[in-house]
Amino acid sequence: PFDVLIVGGGPAGATAAVYAARKGIRTGVLAERFGGQVLDTMAIENFPSVQETEGPKLAAQLEAHVRQYDVDIMNLHTAEKLTPAEREGDFHSVELKNGATLNARTVILTTGARWRHMNVPGEEEYKNKGVAYCPHCDGPFYKGKRVAVIGGGNSGVEAAIDLAGIVAHVTLIEYDSQLRADAVLQRKLGSLKNVKVITSALTTQVNGDGSKVTGLTYKDRNHGTSHDVELEGVFVQIGLVPNTEWLKGAVALTERGEIEIDDRGETSQPGIFAAGDATTEPYKQIVVAMGAGSNAALSAFDYLIRLPSE
Ligand code: FAD
Repeated sequence: PFDVLIVGGGPAGATAAVYAARKGIRTGVLAERFGGQVLDTMAIENFPSVQETEGPKLAAQLEAHVRQYDVDIMNLHTAEKLTPAEREGDFHSVELKNGATLNARTVILTTGARWRHMNVPGEEEYKNKGVAYCPHCDGPFYKGKRVAVIGGGNSGVEAAIDLAGIVAHVTLIEYDSQLRADAVLQRKLGSLKNVKVITSALTTQVNGDGSKVTGLTYKDRNHGTSHDVELEGVFVQIGLVPNTEWLKGAVALTERGEIEIDDRGETSQPGIFAAGDATTEPYKQIVVAMGAGSNAALSAFDYLIRLPSE
């Protein structure tokens, strides 16, 4: 059994592993795909001290760093069920898809999240070639260019306001007949001269020239007509879904499925901690996930040293 079992091998999980292993406790990392969302990222320019890197490179460096220590990395394995310990100090158990069960005194949940996709032609083909999901990450790459934001909820409208300060023009496309964002955000959006809002519009296709995005096509839902917009970038903001479906009933989740944590990364269950995009942490970023991973690992260690010895 492990002292600390980390479920998830993204920035939060990898950092938690380094911190836990450096305490000399038995540490395991279980990951469906070590590296997480970072593997799907091209340029990264907001990781302080590294002016520019690429996702797969950062993921490989994270793995190399974890491998410096005595950590049991179980890559390409999926957790399916978490059963919290019945009594404090007993083992929590994690069941895997392959039927195996892992036991641990503490568990750190770092299963991250995934951006909801539009699932239209061109979206997958032009991912990282004009199709983006994170305005904080990719906004500056579109300086002076034309972009669309898909989605008129809070994240879409926030993204449009953010991008309007960087790019030449923003077209915000909302499926519904009105935006769903908070009124203050809508007012702010309305005051911006380089933003156009199109409602009752369904994006049907991302267009490109084979190497990059050149525009998109949407259907006017009132008239059934099809329209093309020429632009260089499409930011899809229709939801970030935490990978926590398997945790229902085991730890407290919000309505949106985020794991509820406190300042110490503690979940509703003693001895079970969480960090990163899967949690209520408001900002979903690599450095934030790493900070949270170290926080959760230190809290797990703090918890372990307080357990009565057998
Ligand atoms: P993740 O990276 O999502 O990792 C989750 C881990 O859990 C993975 O290893 C996954 O395989 C594993 N997992 C999930 N479910 C299970 C399960 N049931 N069993 C076992 N393992 C499981 N942030 C920045 O700061 N800068 C950027 O430039 C940037 N660009 C981005 C570009 C793109 C295209 C995307 C998608 C995201 C970008 N982000 C960027 C956001 C950043 O990648 C995330 O905030 C960060 O990766 C979150 O880390 P995490 O460890 O919480 O989760």
